[in-house]
Amino acid sequence: MPARPPEEAMRLALQAFVEATRKNVVFRRLLRYRPAEALEIAGLNVDCLPSSLPVRYNETSVEITKEVLFGPKSIVSDSFTPWPFELRLVRYGLKPMALIHAPALDACRLLHQCRASSLFAILTPYAFDAAGDASAGGYINIASNTRPAAAELLGWRGLLVARDLRQLKLGWLSVLFHWDEFLGLLLGYPDCCVRAFRRNWEAACSSFNGEVGAALLASQSHAPVDAAHCCMNVFARYFGFHLTEHFPCGFNCQATVRIGDRLLKGLHHYEPQYAAELARMLSAPVLYVGAEGTYMFPDARWESAGTVLHYSRVLSTIPESALMTLLNTNRTLPAKTEYGRVMRFPAAA
Ligand SMILES: [Zn+2]
Repeated sequence: MPARPPEEAMRLALQAFVEATRKNVVFRRLLRYRPAEALEIAGLNVDCLPSSLPVRYNETSVEITKEVLFGPKSIVSDSFTPWPFELRLVRYGLKPMALIHAPALDACRLLHQCRASSLFAILTPYAFDAAGDASAGGYINIASNTRPAAAELLGWRGLLVARDLRQLKLGWLSVLFHWDEFLGLLLGYPDCCVRAFRRNWEAACSSFNGEVGAALLASQSHAPVDAAHCCMNVFARYFGFHLTEHFPCGFNCQATVRIGDRLLKGLHHYEPQYAAELARMLSAPVLYVGAEGTYMFPDARWESAGTVLHYSRVLSTIPESALMTLLNTNRTLPAKTEYGRVMRFPAAA
């Protein structure tokens, strides 16, 4: 008998796992109370695991067809889509797995490109609508109208890409069952940040329009932000720059510092020019003014005592704001402004 095509084998494995959670109460209990044993039985054992993987099987109804998981075949020879940063990191072997979100057609094109590069890739089981946040330069913070994905390429989709098939299957199941902590660990995020994210995300959704950076700032409002690594500049993503995807548990998280160092060194090897530009942008000071925008000062320098910032240009998520006009007419800014403190991010080592 000819071997099954890898797509079909993956689809059947995921379907069997989901069926087992529906029909087998023992398996479901194992996932909840002894997840390592459950994953061992399913042939999906991994080192990093949360203490429980609960399944609300009656809330989970998705189609597990080839079209839903991999998109229509007709996309294969379609035009080239540039690879997002996270996918390049997976291709270079610097990250175990990446999850990106994109309009369904782009996600599908990228899936086929990743597979052509010998990476494993799959679309996540839900589709959603995305709207940009005006104060965040159109950056998407919150998804809406999340629904089970259909075969048609509508709305936005998640795309998981990994070098390891087991990792990819677990990533897909984590999205399906909302195992957010597990997903974070599979994506290579530090434990401490994964645990803190849930807390920050709840605060972000209830008070900050989904902006975790704002929730993180609010939780540390007692101290000026003087971050331990340039990768902690989570605000630079509004201008198209980020190194680590996860939100650090604090601006001094040592696990994040180690990841930032490792990624930047690796990136220097594969894309030296971009690595240098990224490091420069991430180390730019930032003034965050909530709904009135985020302001970043590339190429700025601090006066020796660190009380005044000298800058030659400003980037803003709201270029037409009154504050932007004011900042453009000046070339210096005190570290402590009436809008808040200017955050510092160190140059890369
Ligand atoms: Zn951390």
